[in-house]
Amino acid sequence: MTGIKCPHCRASLALDRIGVHFQKFCPAIQTPDAREASVKKFNRLYTHMQSHTRGEITVEELQEQADRIFLAH
Ligand SMILES: [Zn+2]
Repeated sequence: MTGIKCPHCRASLALDRIGVHFQKFCPAIQTPDAREASVKKFNRLYTHMQSHTRGEITVEELQEQADRIFLAH
């Protein structure tokens, strides 16, 4: 199973579950504003997920992008 760790709570996530994790399930995202911000960041990550699907970046590089996008201030 291909996946990455959630940059917030470090849960292992299959790629097709990442979006719903940020929308609903991540225990580290607690306010509506934080959740909305995470969904916007997920939209940026999605571009990189498509690159990974095309074989242009490795899953490790996808993890780095996720950490960079979600943990940036
Ligand atoms: Zn999480």
